Order: sequence, then structure tokens, then C-alpha cells
Amino acid sequence: MKTIVLKFGGTSVGSIQRIKEVSKIIKSYSKKYNVIVLSSAMSGTTNKLINMSQEISKKFPDQEYDTLVSAGEQISCSLLAGQLSSEGIKSRSWMAWQIPILTEGKHKYSRIKYINKTKILKFLKSGGVPIIAGFQGVDKNLNITTIGRGGSDSSAIMFAKFFKAYRCVIYTDVEGVYTTDPNKLLSAKKIKNISYEEMLEMASMGSKVMQPDSIQDARLNRINIEVKSSFVNKPGTLITKRKNIINNKIITGISTTDNDAKVSLLGVKDKPGIAASIFKPLSQNSINVDMVVQNISANGKETDLTFTIKSYDLNKTKKIINKNKNIIFKKMVFDKNVSKVSIIGVGMITTPGVTFRMFQALARKNINIQVISTSEIKISVLIKRTNVTKAIKCLHREFKLDI
Ligand code: ASP
Ligand code: MG
Repeated sequence: MKTIVLKFGGTSVGSIQRIKEVSKIIKSYSKKYNVIVLSSAMSGTTNKLINMSQEISKKFPDQEYDTLVSAGEQISCSLLAGQLSSEGIKSRSWMAWQIPILTEGKHKYSRIKYINKTKILKFLKSGGVPIIAGFQGVDKNLNITTIGRGGSDSSAIMFAKFFKAYRCVIYTDVEGVYTTDPNKLLSAKKIKNISYEEMLEMASMGSKVMQPDSIQDARLNRINIEVKSSFVNKPGTLITKRKNIINNKIITGISTTDNDAKVSLLGVKDKPGIAASIFKPLSQNSINVDMVVQNISANGKETDLTFTIKSYDLNKTKKIINKNKNIIFKKMVFDKNVSKVSIIGVGMITTPGVTFRMFQALARKNINIQVISTSEIKISVLIKRTNVTKAIKCLHREFKLDI
């Protein structure tokens, strides 16, 4: 029998009613597969525990934080295993230390390095369905660790890796990955298949279906992921390697960001080392610079440099640039009312003219492009925030994502 990993997110196990529903889903797999279940805490639980620690002290010790917040998964897993048992299915819960799931790194942000398979394999062989706590592990000294907020996705991917599962199904409260944000565009369509690379581009830009780190782990280990809803019985989205995808569309999806700010430095000296002198102090302060353009200098002496950052980093950025005597410029201007719109698709590697079609579609709608950046499978433009909906709509149509 093939092994399958099923992961349930917080809303999927958010109430006793939900736990009963989820156990039906688990049951439907258990005849055909060896099922390994990973569960999150019931929605809201982890936040509540964190709030309690904050009420004690803003400097609550990291080690105690991990012991505290990992407790949420203990509740949901035991409820789920109890529900399955009451329905006559052999099941039990497993906390990380009982397996054990070994992690490395700092408290709060550990990474799973190794999973001891012995006990779980034995339990699977005996026909049992193990319900395993996501998000937690133990370090080599048996201290309880956690692997970062939303980490049960990553736990599930690691189980799929160590148990060589045929697939990892991520059950959540959305039906899958959409061509663009369905809240912004009604005609957004669920994507049937998407490559890891495309999904990474979509995820890092706001399609918050799965944690980017987990997608990266899945990509490296070639694990097929299916994202689907535990609330409706409909096919979800398969995240897989490019080779498995037969797609006639050039563009797979459109994503947008809502929290960009544009900074322009006018009259910057045009000589080697200037860009580095600007971006070095920013990177030292963990400010992520995204898009960059430098104009050609008309007089050969001075140029203008424009870049984008997250809008919450704007004040910090202003201070750093003003304070740094090595950065010489005439004037600094900002714009907080900008957004990045990106079209993403592996199809653009082999199809010429995609850039042109994007720009033309935007031009027809009178949308001015302020900054452009491209990668192998993505073209991004920075535009006025008020134009975002219009832009998504015309690009969605231009690249035939409506149908
Ligand atoms: N319960 C944890 C959290 O809320 C882990 C997870 O949900 O994946 O962050
Ligand atoms: Mg979660």
C-alpha cells in the first residue's frame, strides 16, 4: 500500500464538529492508503497561548515559549485520535518527543532534521492511523522546540519525505490556488496544476495558501502536494514538478502586493560603488530591497536611482539614507501608494512576446508603469495602487486565464 500524508490546518480542526468532519475525510483514505495525519492546533489556540506568554513578560523565555505553544497541537491531535477510535478506527496521537522528531537550530525557529520512523512504521503496519502533532519537535537534549508559525505545513512535508509518501495533501479552508486573488477578481479560476517554481513566486507575493519554506522543501524533495478544502469535497490544486504539467497557458497566475513603497534618490553620483554604498546599510538593517532601476545619466556625472521596499520599512530607510554620509544625492522622494503586479508562468520561457503583451494590455487601459523587473518565469511592474484591480482584470483577460 502507498503512504499518504494528510495535513489539517487550524480551521479544519477548529471545533468538535470540524474534528468529526475531518475524521470522515481520514476514513475515506484509510482503505486505500497507509495514512499519516499531521494536525495544526485548533484555530485561535496558538495565538491565545502566545498572548498569555506576553501577558507574563515581553521577554518570555524562548524555551518556555516552545513548551507552551506546542501544547495547542496536543489538544487537536488527541481529540482527532479519540474521534477516530470512537468510530472503530485504530488510531492514536503522537507528540514529537514520542517519535521523536529531531530538530536543529534556535527555539521558536527550529528546523526538522530527522524523523525516527520505527514506531510509526510499526503502528502503520498494524493498521493504525497515527495522528501527529505538527509544528513541534525536540532538540538533541530533548527540549521541546517549535519550527515557526504556520510550521505544520513543513512538518507534513518532512513526513512525506521521510516516509516516501506518494503525496502530501494539505487540507485548509480555501479550495486551492487561484489564478489571482478571488477577492480582487470574481473571474479568478482555481489552478489545476502548478509547478513548485510558480507556486513559490505566487506564495512570496501574497497567495497565502502555503508557507514558502515548505514549498521549497517539497521542491527539493520532489514531493507532490495537493492543496484542497476540508469544507467542500472538490478537487484542489496539485503542486508538482514542471515535467508533470501539460499546460496550454503561457501565464499561470497573477499576483499583487499591497505594501510596497517606492524610494527615488535624485542626483546620485554616477560612479562605481555608489549603488553598493546605498544598499549595503539597508541590507545590514534587514531591509529587503525588491525592484531597482537606475536611469542612464544624461551628463555622465549624476543619475537617479529608484527602488522599492516594504512600506513598513520606509521610515527606517529614510533615516538610514539621511544619516549615511557616504550616500550623496540631491533629493529623496517617496511614494507609498504603489503596488506590484506580477504575471507568473513557466510558459513565458518558451514563448516570445509576453512582455510586450503585458505592457500593451496595461497601456490600453492607460496604466502607467513606474518600475519593471523580470525573472525567468515572472514579469513584475510597479503601478499606482488605485490601478491594481483594473490591471489584474485586463491581464487576466489578455492571458486567457478567465477561461
Ligand atoms: N499552530 C501553529 C500556528 O498557529 C502551527 C500551524 O498552524 O501550522 O502557527
Ligand atoms: Mg495554521
